[in-house]
Amino acid sequence: MQPPKNEGDESDEGDGRSVKRLRTENNAFSHLSTESTRPSLFIKSEGVTTKKEDWLAATVVDAKPVVKMPPAPKKMEVFHVHGDLTLVAGEQGIRFRISSQSLALVSSAWERKINGPFSGKQSQDGADGWVMPLPEDHPDALRIALQVIHYKFDVVPASLSLDIVFHLTVLCDKYDMVGLLKPFWIGWISKLSQPALEPRSLVQQVWVAHKLGHMQLYERAVKEVLSSTTKRTVSGRTQLYLEGHPDFNLSKDPHLLALGLLESWELGRLQLIRQVKAKLDTALRKLSDPKNTACHYAHPDWQKTCDCAMLGGVHRALQGKSWYSSGSINWENQVTVSVRQLVNKLEAVRTEAIGESRMRKKQGSAHKTCTPWERFELTDILGACSLGTDVAPNPSTFEAQARKSGLMAYAYPTSLFRRPSGFGAA
Ligand SMILES: [Zn+2]
Repeated sequence: MQPPKNEGDESDEGDGRSVKRLRTENNAFSHLSTESTRPSLFIKSEGVTTKKEDWLAATVVDAKPVVKMPPAPKKMEVFHVHGDLTLVAGEQGIRFRISSQSLALVSSAWERKINGPFSGKQSQDGADGWVMPLPEDHPDALRIALQVIHYKFDVVPASLSLDIVFHLTVLCDKYDMVGLLKPFWIGWISKLSQPALEPRSLVQQVWVAHKLGHMQLYERAVKEVLSSTTKRTVSGRTQLYLEGHPDFNLSKDPHLLALGLLESWELGRLQLIRQVKAKLDTALRKLSDPKNTACHYAHPDWQKTCDCAMLGGVHRALQGKSWYSSGSINWENQVTVSVRQLVNKLEAVRTEAIGESRMRKKQGSAHKTCTPWERFELTDILGACSLGTDVAPNPSTFEAQARKSGLMAYAYPTSLFRRPSGFGAA
C-alpha cells in the first residue's frame, strides 16, 4: 500500500518519498515504541502547529528504527457507503470512510483541506483510495463531528465527559465547527458532572468556556484557579502552579498560552491577596487605635489590657510565621502561597493572637468572644472582590463565541467578573 500523503506534503520523489514512508511507519508503530524512541511529531498537543520544516527536520533526526511488525488491521468506520475519502485520525490511526464533499461544506477550513492543492486526492492508488491522515485530531471528537455532518443524529451521544468536550472544542476551533454543533452544546455542557479541581481538568474547563463563550463556566474555573495558584520565580520569571501540583506548570501549558490568560490570572491573584492584606491592615489599625476596642468585656480598663494583648499577640504571631520583612509586613508580590493558604495562615495568626492575650485565663469566660478580627473565609475574600477589566476576559470575545455555540444565556458574568448593571444587555 502506498504511504498516505500528509497535509502540505509536496515532494513525490527521491528523499521526499523516504521521508513520507518514515512518517507513516512512525505513525503506525508509535504505540509500540517506548517514550524515548517515539518521535514527538504525532504527540503534539492539539491546537499547536509546528512548522513543516521543523517537523520534517525533527522526523529525519528522530526517526530511529522501531520494531518491525505488520500493522494490525484497523476497522473502518463507515459514515457513507459511497464515501470517497478515508480520514485516519489520531495516533491510533482510527479510520473513517466519509463523503469528502459533505465535509467540505462544513467550513472554509475543511473546504481548503478537501479541495485545496494539498488534499492528497491525486494519489489514490492504495486499497483505501483517497486517504487523509489527521494525526493531531482526536478520533473520538472527530467521530462526533462526522456523525453530525453525515446526519447520524440518532447516534450522537447525549452526554460527554469533560475530556471529550475539550477535545471537541479543540477540533471545532481548528476547523471552525463550533456553529455546526450548536444544537448539541447546551445539552453536553449542562450534563457535565462537577469536574475535579485538578490542573488538567481546570485547564480544560477554561479552554472549553472560552471556545463556547460560556462566561459562567469560566468564572467557576477561574475562581478555583485564583484561589489555589501558587507562585514560583525562576530566573526572574513568574511561574504559576496549582496548590498541591508542583509538577504542572500553568505558565507553560500550551492551551493557556494560546488563550493568553496567565498575566491576567497573576493580576487577579494579586488583587485577592490585597483583599486579605486590607482585612489585616484594618484589624491592626483598629486594635492600635485607643478610641476603638475589639474587647467584649464591659470594663474599660480590662478592654484596654485585652486590646493591647491581642495587638501584641498578632504581631508576635506574624513575626513567628516570618511575615515581617525588614520591619514591614512581607506581602503581596512576595506571597508565594495560594490565596486559600494565605487565608488559612491568617486564621492561624488570629487564634494564636487570642491565645497570646491570656485574658481568657485571667477572667474566665469574660473574654471568650474577644477577637482581633472576625474570622473570615476564602469565600468572603472572593465575594468582596469584583475583579476589574484587567482581569476579566474580554466580554465581546465571549459573546461572539456564544453566538456560534448557542450559549448566549451563559455568556455574561454573574459573580467574579460582575459589572455595573446594564452591562451585557443585548
Ligand atoms: Zn477582651
